[in-house]
Amino acid sequence: MTVSSSKLKSGVVWGESYQKLVAACKAGGYALPAVNVVGTNSVNAVLESAARNKSDVIIQLSGGGAQFFGGPSLADGLQAKILGAVSAAQHVHLMAEQYGVCVVLHTDHANRGLLPWVEGLIAQGETFFKKNGTPLFSSHMIDLSEESLDTNLAECSRILARLAPLGMSLELELGITGGEEDGVGSEDLSETDHSRLYTHPEDVLRAFDTLTPIGHFSVAASFGNVHGVYAPGNVKLKPEILKNSQDLIESRHKKQKPVNFVFHGGSGSDKKDIADAITYGVFKMNIDTDTQFAFSQGVGAYVTQNPEAFRYQIHPETHKPLKSLYDPRKWLRAGEKTLATRMDEAFKDLGSVGKTQAG
Ligand SMILES: [Zn+2]
Repeated sequence: MTVSSSKLKSGVVWGESYQKLVAACKAGGYALPAVNVVGTNSVNAVLESAARNKSDVIIQLSGGGAQFFGGPSLADGLQAKILGAVSAAQHVHLMAEQYGVCVVLHTDHANRGLLPWVEGLIAQGETFFKKNGTPLFSSHMIDLSEESLDTNLAECSRILARLAPLGMSLELELGITGGEEDGVGSEDLSETDHSRLYTHPEDVLRAFDTLTPIGHFSVAASFGNVHGVYAPGNVKLKPEILKNSQDLIESRHKKQKPVNFVFHGGSGSDKKDIADAITYGVFKMNIDTDTQFAFSQGVGAYVTQNPEAFRYQIHPETHKPLKSLYDPRKWLRAGEKTLATRMDEAFKDLGSVGKTQAG
């Protein structure tokens, strides 16, 4: 692989440049963090940290995140989800190249109920492509892991056939990621059959054989991962499931590490499990719970340090105006800074520091 010899343009990557980025991660033995964003504050903080770490990065929106981006008061929730995601994508398209790194734009879990959101975004993406010659997003995720494998793969095939002509990739889920991510999935692990928390290599092979002729895709495989941060010992991570899947497909197709794996529920994971998963072909690790907490910690600390500014416009004892302290830029910036600091740690854990493919 001669990835280092052909640098990519900074900004949003898609099509061939996206595929080169994924290949560079796997060949270089590192992965990129995929962060759920809800507004320009989180987008800019992620870009800020990616730039100072000279790492490429993945920015993604859940249905709920997109709706919030569009405006939570809008009565038509589906329209808010679609247009909110378009708005976020346009902000990232405009600003990303200023940070000198490659940025993947992605949407997170879409179960059956969220398919109209993804289909609406594909329609928006088709219009955007006609106008600009680039897609709106680098990839979308379809999560029909709670349905039968046949139905899951049939729907993924149908969607990927629409994405491929736009130079877009598809992420699908095989096996169930435990916990709940923004309303998708089950919060109660005891209700989920534990064997379904582990993907079967034969299923990955079937997905590989079905989707490879249609277009580029990645697989969120379950190896005991759970969304959210829980007390340790609830479910055991088994990254070797990823290795077993790669080995099975390698033996059939004579291709090294053929599957592009995605690690969901990365928040709070053991560093050794992360390193093992990357060795087995993980190029993307989702992180949401930890970055949500990081943003809130910065804001919380600011409010605790400046309590008067959140109750009075003029200090009751010193009679000084408090405008410079309650200016929302101050406390939003405090959240951006702690989010960016948490991202520094993610880039380090995933081994992507200094490895941007932009040049
Ligand atoms: Zn997930």
